[in-house]
Amino acid sequence: MDYDVIVVGAGPAGSTLARLLAGQGVRVLLLDRARFPRDKPCGGTVTVRAASHLDIDLAPVVERTIFAGRFTYRLGKAFRHRSDQPLTFMTQRHRLDLFLAEQAAAAGAQFHDGEPVRAAEAAERTVTVRTDKGHYTARALAGADGANGIVGQSTGAAPRVDLLVGLERNVPLEETVEHRWEDTVALDLGALPGGYGWVFPKGNHLNVGVGAWRHFAPHLRRRLADLCQRYRLPSDRLSELRGHHLPLRRPGSPIARGPAVTLGDAAGLVDPLSGEGIHTAFLSARLAAEAIMRYLEEQTADLSSYQAAVDREIMPELIASRKLQDTFHYAPYPYAFVLQYSDRFWRLFCRLIRGETTYVGLLRMVGPLGWLVDGWDIVARRSRYSLPAEKLRKGLKR
Ligand SMILES: Cc1cc2nc3c(=O)[nH]c(=O)nc-3n(C[C@H](O)[C@H](O)[C@H](O)COP(=O)(O)OP(=O)(O)OC[C@H]3O[C@@H](n4cnc5c(N)ncnc54)[C@H](O)[C@@H]3O)c2cc1C
Repeated sequence: MDYDVIVVGAGPAGSTLARLLAGQGVRVLLLDRARFPRDKPCGGTVTVRAASHLDIDLAPVVERTIFAGRFTYRLGKAFRHRSDQPLTFMTQRHRLDLFLAEQAAAAGAQFHDGEPVRAAEAAERTVTVRTDKGHYTARALAGADGANGIVGQSTGAAPRVDLLVGLERNVPLEETVEHRWEDTVALDLGALPGGYGWVFPKGNHLNVGVGAWRHFAPHLRRRLADLCQRYRLPSDRLSELRGHHLPLRRPGSPIARGPAVTLGDAAGLVDPLSGEGIHTAFLSARLAAEAIMRYLEEQTADLSSYQAAVDREIMPELIASRKLQDTFHYAPYPYAFVLQYSDRFWRLFCRLIRGETTYVGLLRMVGPLGWLVDGWDIVARRSRYSLPAEKLRKGLKR
């Protein structure tokens, strides 16, 4: 056997898993098809709740720390809120992912970038991965190769997913970021079914993006231009627009099969309401590392305990988030109104981003009115794909 574990994909999920395993003396091969540093379509924001799952400090790649939000409802009048504690850290993915891969290599993982996996097979206690350079064998295989990754497809550990889509690009600023963006993000709510628009300040540019349900994709480009116009950002300087899917796992669908698992986006673990995937990339890496260690020590016959752990520790949150996403997008105005006028709601929002409370806790707070949320959710889900063209078009107008 060449290795104990092969990890395919060196994004936040794969590099974190490789680092955690190598740190415990496991022989790990970490493969990525891209040459590093490589970029990835992403806002690059790592919330405090996401960072709290790491046992390493991201400071070397944090370009800004965010304390405040400037909000608009369908690009209307802006309102602002501030927190006295950090909410989220701004990174650029080519720097963040290189840093995480280097940490994995420093812990002892063998990192081969620029080596795409062409095929993967999982037998009872042996896995084989083929690349252009030959083949590698190991006792376990982890697919952290993003949405539609090859590992899940080849091993039966690919979940069924619903898809959001995101489109983003950087707007370069001549000098440093204007004062108004220093520690503030902008979020536009209510105009994009399933998602929102954002402006995230980085070291020397602004990342501007929009996300929505996949069926809204044809409208995203125009919506991004509107967002730039609203914030007086030069939309003609929007170069290299980049889009990507954000996969949402359907509960119960497979993410482990025999000695193979999927994690991060490959397991469809994006948070539906926020579109955040780095948080669950880190968390699923920890759960996968724990399950793989038990498997390598022969305490378990396969890696099904990983799927059970994800179903226990991650899915209740993602299911609650999906419920909130559905109800929010069915009738967004009341939520935006409460966010504008209620300090209590803003503080709750901050506690969610900081990981001090959970979506499940939030739903629990509505107590006996929970059945109302459930009923509203059923109506909202039914209407998701039947939004009339007129309503979609109106959503584009200010
Ligand atoms: C527009 C947009 C904005 C977003 N903004 C945010 C945000 O601000 N914050 C946030 O938390 N999340 C955000 N997300 C989601 C986030 O980008 C993902 O959830 C996150 O990257 C998932 O990490 P991962 O490690 O699972 O997969 P990825 O980061 O996608 O990494 C997968 C890796 O696998 C490699 N790979 C794929 N196939 C192969 C193969 N055959 N062989 C070898 N290697 C392979 C790829 O090269 C890649 O490096 C955004 C997504 C989009 C689309």
